[in-house]
Amino acid sequence: MRAEGCKLREIALRFDVSISTVHRWVVPGSWERARQYRRAHAEEHKAHNRRYAHEKRGICDGCGSQMGVGYSRDGLCLGCRRERRERKRGTIQHLWIAGATIRQISEAVDTTPGAIGVEMAHMRRDGWDLPFREGYPR
Ligand SMILES: [Zn+2]
Repeated sequence: MRAEGCKLREIALRFDVSISTVHRWVVPGSWERARQYRRAHAEEHKAHNRRYAHEKRGICDGCGSQMGVGYSRDGLCLGCRRERRERKRGTIQHLWIAGATIRQISEAVDTTPGAIGVEMAHMRRDGWDLPFREGYPR
């Protein structure tokens, strides 16, 4: 068996392919067996992946759904984070158009005036209507 492995390795090196590829070449039916194995265990693998995601990624604090890949550190899924951001942007726009100062807006959404300035610049870039005002930097 060990000698067999050495031979496979030699062939793999000579043809610059993986050992498993050589194995498929030289062992009759190995390709078909591997495929059958994958099919036979597909449900088992799916269940394992679901269990893993449930244990390691956790649940969104916002909507209670399974966290996906790229979950956020504050416990919200990407969808809930996006939703929260849009809500916050709506509040900023509403207050700005109503004539609130940057400081008042920052207090309303619980952040700093500097952060509001940055967010408003991003909002304008994204197409939000935030009219420029006398006395405020552009
Ligand atoms: Zn969520």
